[in-house]
Amino acid sequence: MDINAHAEELASALGEDTEEVRRDLENLLEYSVPIDEAKQSVRRKYGGGGGGDGTPEAVDIAEVGPESGNVTVTARVLTVGRRSIRYQGDDTVIREGELADGTGTISYTAWQDFGFEPGDTVAVGNAGVREWEGEPELNLGESSSVATEGEPLDVPYEVGGERGLVELAAGDRGRTVEAKVLEVEQRTIDGRDGETVIHSGVLGDETARLPFTDWQAREAVVEGAELRMEDVYVREFRGVPSVNLTEFTEVSPTSVEVSDEAPRVSVDEAVSSGGMYDVAVVGNVLEVRDGSGLIERCPDCGRLVQNGQCRSHGQVEAEDDLRIKAILDDGTATVTAILDRDLTEEIYGATLEEALEAAREAMSREVVSDEIGETLVGREFRVRGHLSVDEYGANLDATEFAASEDDPAERARDVLGEVGA
Ligand SMILES: [Zn+2]
Repeated sequence: MDINAHAEELASALGEDTEEVRRDLENLLEYSVPIDEAKQSVRRKYGGGGGGDGTPEAVDIAEVGPESGNVTVTARVLTVGRRSIRYQGDDTVIREGELADGTGTISYTAWQDFGFEPGDTVAVGNAGVREWEGEPELNLGESSSVATEGEPLDVPYEVGGERGLVELAAGDRGRTVEAKVLEVEQRTIDGRDGETVIHSGVLGDETARLPFTDWQAREAVVEGAELRMEDVYVREFRGVPSVNLTEFTEVSPTSVEVSDEAPRVSVDEAVSSGGMYDVAVVGNVLEVRDGSGLIERCPDCGRLVQNGQCRSHGQVEAEDDLRIKAILDDGTATVTAILDRDLTEEIYGATLEEALEAAREAMSREVVSDEIGETLVGREFRVRGHLSVDEYGANLDATEFAASEDDPAERARDVLGEVGA
């Protein structure tokens, strides 16, 4: 390890700023203090305890907060995910997952292999606590100790990372999924080791569909394959969670039920999960936004063109297109549903050419969006698509858009019908 790696590890173990810790270490090393002694000294300075007598107090997981400093916990290992990270030019395999006791769960990152597996009960001594996305996380570094306990700790949480696709969220580590490969394509990317062939596509199970990337481009990952994938991690890609298969992922054949239905969610639920792939929401159209109806796009980049000008390509020969941006409210939150030309033609009830003709006759392009507004505003629709969240709000890239089947009057009739029968 070089000084930066030592500083990083020490700082996260102490819950201190890496830069400050690195400066302190550098000062000591300038006086030819050996690295181990320098680290002990910095540890003492920040109250992290010296050698020997510095074992922190044992605590319950529920008591651990971002400001806890160093702690000792006894916990059941729920998940272990492995990941290779490149730090200062070196590849290091880290282990990440969740620990639990009777009071709660906590994520951890282990910077070396302590040899524990899901299901093991371990006494973790002197783990650093740092904050990660607002939550405390345990850091197991070279100053931490891990001892396996014989008696398993009873915890009210499931051991192992098995999840349905709908339960996955960005940041998940060490998960196991069983899913069918619905789509796959081979791509060559410019990776950290130069040109790399990867597979990417869409997975489906009984609960949902999600995009995936197999960084190893395995031959087993072909369209139609039904696979058990152990040790995958989840990250956000284009606003939705994406399943990642790494060199550590074990892939084996299995059989999987796949649903054609998208899970029905509330807008609030989808937004607070940070984005969801292929979901259905039902809501009222409040407004058809500007930039709906007849629009012009840049032939090179597809961006909206105004007065013949593309923001990236300047003066261009713009191409006509149709789209709808409709604000949908389901009572929990609002989302902008974005409909492409095909869906817009369906709703408008005419083709792009006919829309252009109508605009010429009326001498206004607005007639098209006005008519779309009259069709949509104030009515309830069921929209299926990919929900992503960006700085401007939530967007639902629609793949299906139809009048809602759970029209309240219809629901009432259904209920009455059942009662009558
Ligand atoms: Zn352009």
